[in-house]
Amino acid sequence: MSGRPLPRRPTVAVIGAGFSGLMTALSLLEQPDGPRVRLIERRKAFGRGAAYSTTFKDHLLNVRASNMSAFPDQPDHFVNWLATEGEGTGPTAFAQRSRYGAYLQAMLARAAERSEAGRLLLEADGVVGLAPQGAGWRLTCAMGRDLDVDAVVLAIGNFPPHQPAGLTDAAAKSPRFAADPWSSDLSAAPDGGQAVLIGTGMTMVDVALRLAAERPDLKLLAVSRRGLLPHRHLESGPAPLSWDPGRRPTARRLIRQMRFLARSADWRSVIDGVRPHVQAIWRGWTADERSRFLRHARPWWDIHRHRLAPGVAAQIDDLIRSGVLTVRAGRISRIAEDGDALSVDWRPKREPEMQTTAACLVVNCTGPTGQLARSPDPLIADLARQQLIRPDQQDLGLDVDALGRLIAADGSPSPTLYSIGPVTRGAFWEITSVPDIRVQAAALARQLSAQLRERNAAPWPVRVAAVPDLDLPLESHDRPPAQEAWI
Ligand SMILES: Cc1cc2nc3c(=O)[nH]c(=O)nc-3n(C[C@H](O)[C@H](O)[C@H](O)COP(=O)(O)OP(=O)(O)OC[C@H]3O[C@@H](n4cnc5c(N)ncnc54)[C@H](O)[C@@H]3O)c2cc1C
Repeated sequence: MSGRPLPRRPTVAVIGAGFSGLMTALSLLEQPDGPRVRLIERRKAFGRGAAYSTTFKDHLLNVRASNMSAFPDQPDHFVNWLATEGEGTGPTAFAQRSRYGAYLQAMLARAAERSEAGRLLLEADGVVGLAPQGAGWRLTCAMGRDLDVDAVVLAIGNFPPHQPAGLTDAAAKSPRFAADPWSSDLSAAPDGGQAVLIGTGMTMVDVALRLAAERPDLKLLAVSRRGLLPHRHLESGPAPLSWDPGRRPTARRLIRQMRFLARSADWRSVIDGVRPHVQAIWRGWTADERSRFLRHARPWWDIHRHRLAPGVAAQIDDLIRSGVLTVRAGRISRIAEDGDALSVDWRPKREPEMQTTAACLVVNCTGPTGQLARSPDPLIADLARQQLIRPDQQDLGLDVDALGRLIAADGSPSPTLYSIGPVTRGAFWEITSVPDIRVQAAALARQLSAQLRERNAAPWPVRVAAVPDLDLPLESHDRPPAQEAWI
């Protein structure tokens, strides 16, 4: 037997186990000589993230089942999984988001069963700090542990919504104000009265459906600057129109082209047809052109591109028709405590007079934002303090290069600190949905594995110990310190 020590298998920490982190971890595990993976998540359940943790049955996917496979090379994977679960609703259906979360958890359980011993570790913990350590990184976890790894992927999802303008300090602390609809308890409002929802997009739709089902005693007023609701999918089709806008049309020309095509084809097929080209167009634009698009076309783009499932749209129509939900364009200028309620001062669009609405509940439905400087997250604050990250030019999230490597304040990409998912929107724009993130995760895993393999070009050690039982979904972190489970 040779006395030469076996080379160490590198370790990648994936921080966050929503769709982006989960798919990065699974893709890394698929690399035959890839690294170990520590998948770290501070929520109770792994794999569901913000979008698929809901248990409310009327929260549906806004993409048809046929386009929700977790794996780009197996397009029928989710549809087949539904069928094996006895839910053969077919490829054009819009499944429940909670079922999609169950699908992702099933994929994680399968990977844990199949992967080589010691390749995957699930850590139920939050990462609150990250600092360079030799050629790798030292992670500080909320539970007080430090973890040393060779590379890190931030899969942390969107930054939480910002506080709305005009919110007084007292109102911000009031139990009547829900700062983040995903983590607030909306059942606390007193019986009867008016709830004000700030925003009229996808988040508002989620909140309105839930409140209407769970609190039928409430009236709902949704206000946004333009009062635009998301458009809807048709029951079936139409197929994407095959068209190529070229690599660098100006933002104005792109929208003009789309409007022109929409005269002779359904606008949905025009939008879906441009979608495969969007990342290339965005990457080809200058910073000024990107800003122009965001300034002039973003609201229009958002309501056409992110569409409601037909059943959800019909429910929203019913709520509006029955007077439960009112959607208005207007500008909120102040939200203050007023006895037992919150008073909301707002001016409806094109009306001179201010109105004051007494609200038993105000829910911030402005949706996720990407402004790094305003993120309250301790990990983001720590990385910003060390100048290891910077905002992208449009302030949509974290600045990354084309490979997903985070760019430090001095403009240099880190060789071993990556990010994935919606926070990389500044580099790719169209990177918030499953069909885009699954491709990004597979590419990132290939790139990172090859990079670590090159750095450590020698055979891996053989397997000598078993991976601990993974009883998914995980509810708490009561496992022994991670290294003890590894070979
Ligand atoms: C309500 C909603 C509905 C959607 N519906 C669809 C749909 O129907 N179809 C579609 O294609 N797309 C949909 N999307 C978009 C898309 O699926 C999501 O953007 C995607 O799931 C993003 O996943 P993520 O992992 O990047 O982020 P998240 O789901 O937010 O996951 C990030 C995870 O990281 C964890 N985390 C963050 N910081 C730390 C830390 N410091 N330490 C440990 N853990 C941390 C968080 O707890 C979280 O679980 C939807 C999005 C939302 C919000």
